[in-house]
Amino acid sequence: MGISSDLFVGEVGEDLVCSICQEILDGATLSGCQQQHAYCRTCLTQWVKRPHVAKTCPDCRQAVHEAHFAPLKLLDRMVGRLKVKCKHAGCSWQAEYSDLAAHLASTCQYQRKPCPYAQRGCRAQLRPISAGAHIQNSCDYRTVVCPRGGNDCGGAKKGIYMRKDEAAHAEVCTRHTCKNQGCNTTGRLKTLKLHQHGCDAISAARVRAENRCSLLDHSSKALRDENARLKAVNTKVTDDNKKLEDEVARLKAQLAPRPPKRGAEVLDEVKQEEEDPAPPKDQQPSLSFLGPRGSTFEGGDRRSTRLRGASK
Ligand SMILES: [Zn+2]
Ligand SMILES: [Zn+2]
Ligand SMILES: [Zn+2]
Ligand SMILES: [Zn+2]
Ligand SMILES: [Zn+2]
Ligand SMILES: [Zn+2]
Repeated sequence: MGISSDLFVGEVGEDLVCSICQEILDGATLSGCQQQHAYCRTCLTQWVKRPHVAKTCPDCRQAVHEAHFAPLKLLDRMVGRLKVKCKHAGCSWQAEYSDLAAHLASTCQYQRKPCPYAQRGCRAQLRPISAGAHIQNSCDYRTVVCPRGGNDCGGAKKGIYMRKDEAAHAEVCTRHTCKNQGCNTTGRLKTLKLHQHGCDAISAARVRAENRCSLLDHSSKALRDENARLKAVNTKVTDDNKKLEDEVARLKAQLAPRPPKRGAEVLDEVKQEEEDPAPPKDQQPSLSFLGPRGSTFEGGDRRSTRLRGASK
């Protein structure tokens, strides 16, 4: 089978095409006919091995014999100088066909190669572009150090092992730690399993106690707030009482007896009252503002009206 003509950039001369496989000559070989027709080595060998068919040159039908097949290096060199592109889609490399093998073996980022840990048993074929991710994340044969200790945490390899042995190391590792916060117990998985039941109970009790403490904190804060509020109310009531007492004292002073009136004035007043009888009792000036509630005095207008009535 010849070299895929898809690799070649541009036209390839007819003399370099194998007329058995229709591809580019791979190991050009003369059939031994007088016309010097050439074919790929494998194509020509298989051609004459077909059963029940006479051994003839595929082009000119002249009888040929394997003993007369002869390589023609000149044609190989001509093929080697033809321009090709890399066989991997995505790779932009282009050069002479004779450089393709070296490109695939070394610089091509799309050509799969065995994992660096193939000797340890990894079967992965990797593109250089993705080899790093394979080794870092999934190669079972990569060396890892135990995340719990490394180097001295137990087992034959003392915490350094291949990734595939992770579970086996976990069984013998002596650095497992209790998952409960505040507990420093370490040991093998088996030991910790025995420890865990009792430790869980203690840990749960501690959490419950911490919750109770925070509840108490909360209610004592509410009590402090309520106390402060009551103190404020008390202060206001005391202030109001003081204002009331002051007001009463002021009114008493205003109602104190006046000096006696002269005779003519008394007569005038009696006369006036006879013409203008006293108003009904409910229209008389009220003294209800003397009650215990300070609010009665708060409106300036109301107070001044009442005070005018009281002083008449
Ligand atoms: Zn061929
Ligand atoms: Zn021929
Ligand atoms: Zn390439
Ligand atoms: Zn690997
Ligand atoms: Zn370990
Ligand atoms: Zn514990």
